[in-house]
Amino acid sequence: MAISVDLNRCPQNHPCPALTICPVGALTQNGVAAPIVDASKCINCKKCVRFCPMEAFS
Ligand code: SF4
Repeated sequence: MAISVDLNRCPQNHPCPALTICPVGALTQNGVAAPIVDASKCINCKKCVRFCPMEAFS
């Protein structure tokens, strides 16, 4: 299962700190919009899922 970002949980008002914890650089962000997961890079380690205090990744 690919990682997805719940737009109802992500406040979309700050630089996403999860970008720095992704070990493969699969997360990108345009401005303060919700982060985008590059499924071709993601190794499904779920670090972002555990890291995000808003529980926006699933
Ligand atoms: S599951 Fe791991 S590899 Fe995939 S986006 Fe999250 S932190 Fe990056």
